[in-house]
Amino acid sequence: MSARAGIVITGTEVLSGIISDRNGPWLSERLTEIGVDLAHITIVGDRPEDMAAALRFLAGEGVDLIVTSGGLGPTADDLTADVVAQFSGRPLTLDAGLEARIAEILRPLLARWPDVDRASVARGNRKQALVPEGATVLEPVGTAPGLVVPPREREGPTVVVLPGPPSELRPMWEAARATDAFRAATRGATTYERRIMRLFGMPESEIAATLVAGEQAGLPLDRLEITTCLRRGEIEVATRFEPDAAPAYDTFAAFVRERHGDLLFSPDGTTIDEQVATLLLGPPGRTVATAESCTGGLLAGRLTERAGSSAYVLGGLVVYSNEAKTALAGVDAELIKRVGAVSPEVAEALADGALARLGADVGIGVTGIAGPGGGTPEKPVGLVYVSVATRDGARVTRKLNLPGSRSDVRERTTTVALHMLRRLLRGEDVPTTR
Ligand code: ATP
Ligand code: MG
Repeated sequence: MSARAGIVITGTEVLSGIISDRNGPWLSERLTEIGVDLAHITIVGDRPEDMAAALRFLAGEGVDLIVTSGGLGPTADDLTADVVAQFSGRPLTLDAGLEARIAEILRPLLARWPDVDRASVARGNRKQALVPEGATVLEPVGTAPGLVVPPREREGPTVVVLPGPPSELRPMWEAARATDAFRAATRGATTYERRIMRLFGMPESEIAATLVAGEQAGLPLDRLEITTCLRRGEIEVATRFEPDAAPAYDTFAAFVRERHGDLLFSPDGTTIDEQVATLLLGPPGRTVATAESCTGGLLAGRLTERAGSSAYVLGGLVVYSNEAKTALAGVDAELIKRVGAVSPEVAEALADGALARLGADVGIGVTGIAGPGGGTPEKPVGLVYVSVATRDGARVTRKLNLPGSRSDVRERTTTVALHMLRRLLRGEDVPTTR
């Protein structure tokens, strides 16, 4: 026996594609973590009939738990609590204590807007304090409270009602999980272990071949739920298994390591970004600087995504035009004229320029043709040169032929650059390709 769940995302702006759904995928991962099988994610607009139909559909599918997102605000188009109350057969009643707590939250906010209509604020405040009878209130993170609504007579699913803004929904999740109704609904959940491996430098078909070979070699793969996907140019192998199948996973992981060697750069699931950050932090601590043409600062952006990156990122030059390459990164204008901006020589000059101009321990230079226009037979779209150089004279330069759209080429380039940086920082030999 296992517990099954459905998710209902509400919001006309999500349905119409104006904003993309960030709650469904996040909730999906949380449910997977606790061993609840997710059957459906439905997206509906702010229409009560559609919302009610989605709830009925999921109940008809026999799910134990439904999680909703959105429609908990103070205005008339925020109808989720109302719809769920009707669905669960639990009439709305005013929770006076909750009404007072929401008023407390609103007080400092209102002080900044002296002219707003107090009566309509009070109406919205009261509306948000209407709670289906017998439901558990999840205290507001913003102004909207969440709800956990158990079914009547133990028939049908428990509904967890959460607000739409991701910054409010996420902190409420743990509180929802801690309620009796949530526990009761997910009692049948199997606990799973999850492991991730990451590989770089091979096509996805290779990992598919490894799975077939593993099967032929008699590995106990039937105890493992293995999914592979291509992400940012890397292969991610995610595996879910019941705790007693841990030895089967270890056998599988050893098999992957044996077949793919160094291409398995992350047996423990750490990302390339995390590994590079750890290496730069040291000891010995090292600093990095970039000079980017076709990636226009994406690499510097990626390097600075992590909190605390100021310890090792000195800066980045965005040198899109030839003039900027010369003026900012000190690339010889004659060199550009002679070999062209997209060349191994210019990538190396950019890496050296980043090193010298920013006084870093490691410099990275990037130049290429992201497309869709601008390609020639000699220098096609997707041709990119990346060079990584250290202050003490180590250097690697690589010629890449990247497939895909403009944004694919630009993103893949940052991934390749991080892998080159990692290997150089680890003192590994990386062959230069021109
Ligand atoms: P509010 O009190 O802010 O109205 P709410 O619970 O009523 O909260 P919604 O009105 O559905 O939530 O959404 C409010 C805002 O939250 C949206 O405009 C959007 O910016 C964000 N949001 C809502 N749902 C999602 C979602 N699924 N993914 C990402 N952002 C979302
Ligand atoms: Mg709203």
